[in-house]
Formats: sequence, C-alpha cells, structure tokens
Amino acid sequence: MGTKRCLACADDFDPCPRVAAQNYCSRPECQRERRSLWQKDKRANDSDYRGNQLACQRRWRETHGDYWKKYREQHPDYEQRNRELQRGRNEAIKAAPVAKMDAIAPAGSLRSGRYRLRACGSNGVAKMDEWIVQIVVLTRA
Ligand SMILES: [Zn+2]
Repeated sequence: MGTKRCLACADDFDPCPRVAAQNYCSRPECQRERRSLWQKDKRANDSDYRGNQLACQRRWRETHGDYWKKYREQHPDYEQRNRELQRGRNEAIKAAPVAKMDAIAPAGSLRSGRYRLRACGSNGVAKMDEWIVQIVVLTRA
C-alpha cells in the first residue's frame, strides 16, 4: 500500500493497512474534520440519526437546564459580545425592506400570490422564523 493524500490537509500519509478506505491522516484536526463531515452528512440524510440527536440533546437540556444561564453569569464578555452581535442583526433587519415593493399592494387591493411571512415581536423586529405562504383572494368586499 502506497502513500495517500489526506483530504483535509493535502499532505501525504501512510494509510493504516487495517482501514480499508482511509482518506484522512491521523492528525487530530484532520480526524476532527472527517468526523464533522460524517456527522453533517448523517444529519442531512439519516432521519433516525437526526431524531436520536434531538432526543439526546433534549435529555441533556432537561438535566442541565441552567447550564447556559450559569455560563453567561461566569462569562460576562461572552454575553456582552452576543448582545452586540444581536443588536447588529436587529439593526440590519430593521434597515432591510421586509416585503418587496411589488408585493406591497395599495390598501384594499391585496392580490393572490406567494408572500414571505415573518413572525415579529412586539418591538416590530422580525424573528428568525419565516414562511413562504400562498394567499388566495376569494372575494373582495
Ligand atoms: Zn491530514
């Protein structure tokens, strides 16, 4: 068996004879990338795996309910940075037009069509959830 080129770092390496299709060298960062790509693929293509992951995360949250609260208390820089990043995102959302100009119909003339529906809080700032909805005008009063 000759040397192979690692898919992560592109360095040559001698594959382990017991691993049939080894494409990554043994460096920790290359193995981390291999596992990360494997997990990403599993999450995208294996609904059982995804379900197990969600159940596992739910169990963890139930037993470590205050983990993030404590983490934020112990790492005020982290919390401050998050606040600033969120403030930036909120400003960007406020500055961006929510609806395309041609989707804004004059009062009383809503047209059938597809619309982007975005939940927003009482402060008028859109939340992350967004749906594409089909509105069909049946009658016009
Ligand atoms: Zn490597």
